Amino acid sequence: MDALRGASVPPQRLFIDAKSQDAEGAPLDVFSPIDGRQLTTLAGATASDVDRAVASARAAFEDGRWRRQPPAARKKVLHKLADLIQENALELAVLGVRDNGTEIAMALKAEPGSAAGTFRYYAEALDKISGEIAPTAENVLGLVHREPVGVVGAIVPWNFPLMIGAWKLAPALAAGNSVVLKPAESASLSLLRLAELAVEAGLPPGVLNVVTGSGAVTGEALALHMDVDILVFTGSGATGRRLLQYSAQSNLKRCYLELGGKSPNVVFADAPDLDMAAKAAANAIFRNAGQVCVAGSRLLVQRDIHDDFVAAVARHTAALKVGDPLDLATGIGAVHSPDQLRAHLNFVTGAQEDGATVALGGNQILQDTGGWYMEPTLLTGVKPSARIAQHEVFGPVLAVTPFEDEADAVAKANDSVYGLAAGVWTSNLSRAHRMVREIRAGVVHVNTYGGADGTVPLGGVKQSGNGHDKSLHALDRYLDLKTAWISL
Ligand code: ADP
Repeated sequence: MDALRGASVPPQRLFIDAKSQDAEGAPLDVFSPIDGRQLTTLAGATASDVDRAVASARAAFEDGRWRRQPPAARKKVLHKLADLIQENALELAVLGVRDNGTEIAMALKAEPGSAAGTFRYYAEALDKISGEIAPTAENVLGLVHREPVGVVGAIVPWNFPLMIGAWKLAPALAAGNSVVLKPAESASLSLLRLAELAVEAGLPPGVLNVVTGSGAVTGEALALHMDVDILVFTGSGATGRRLLQYSAQSNLKRCYLELGGKSPNVVFADAPDLDMAAKAAANAIFRNAGQVCVAGSRLLVQRDIHDDFVAAVARHTAALKVGDPLDLATGIGAVHSPDQLRAHLNFVTGAQEDGATVALGGNQILQDTGGWYMEPTLLTGVKPSARIAQHEVFGPVLAVTPFEDEADAVAKANDSVYGLAAGVWTSNLSRAHRMVREIRAGVVHVNTYGGADGTVPLGGVKQSGNGHDKSLHALDRYLDLKTAWISL
């Protein structure tokens, strides 16, 4: 680990047509959240660089070098890629952590670990995709083919680049598409390496291209491109809105958006193990410094147990060490940028103005490292209408609000423009099922929080987006339906 921690990272270039290529735009500096020092530079792809990447993806799609390979051959390549990810797991994880600041204990599992599993899942799925024969009248045959869509534009965020990247790439490639991937400017390194591994695994040139650069230049060019057939995205609601506009301004490409959340974690007095629930509530918001789309950022606690429960959450939070993301004992890594950290601190000030009390944390710490760190912060007495209860912080800040009974819990849980995830803690089975039905969210955890694996879909409702990653359902968006109507 020590050798990897200090390894120099050469200036990064674009990955187009299986070759490392220069960009026309100015390079972007990449700083590590661990110590604030410059790590390397990224190529800044311009619209014409993006054109080259899309042209490469289009050529690969049209000549069928990937989509026309027998399913068994494509399956082998994706399994080989999973093998290579596992063989290079430590290198990939450390590179990613130096780039984005996630604590390594989490990154090892959530990044290469999860990405390898995702490639294997879709490798296994790709030879089970069948068409249909429609129940037509005798004199015709109606066949429904499922075909790859074409060129996929994938724009992904910085919090879990490999995991979320694999959620898009694996089903897109399994279905036979070509992809142009645009990673976040502050988390491109491990995905550039993944693209090299994909070619080593046997993915033909041009099937996966990576363009790096800013969202405003590189991302916009990809989203506006007339030859990108669909756009898959994970990131902020503000960017999601822009992508829909770009689609409308260009070729009406389909957009699948995974956006933010303000997920309620609801604890009833009859939870089976309140101490376990308190520990899970702390982990649900503070791991990866709260930079998790499904983070349980609103804690709703039944009034009778409120004070004791908050004390237990504070106790478990104190046990999570904030610090060096490359130390295996660290429970909470760095905040990914100084801007983000400033925004978190402003949220805490705003919450106090709205009447909340800082029960724990609230400050920047470890300034002597040069990196960006924040204390895990617990805010109590948060009114449901307060800014801190309504806006996504994407940082280590937990807003706690008491509730009276089940109806009040449902009303408060649903009082949000978001609907990504939720948690419910109760030993009453009927209540658990009622809550699952009533809470408007893409996933409702019961007596646990997080950890839903690749066999189930993840996607939001309301302003959390319209897409679903993971599971066999994710394949649907990368496949078009085509009808053959044959007169007999
Ligand atoms: P976050 O708050 O997680 O950084 P963003 O939505 O800003 O969320 O970033 C997610 C991804 O979207 C990144 O890869 C970023 O570069 C990209 N992005 C940001 N702005 C735009 C834009 N205007 N057009 C296309 N992509 C963008």
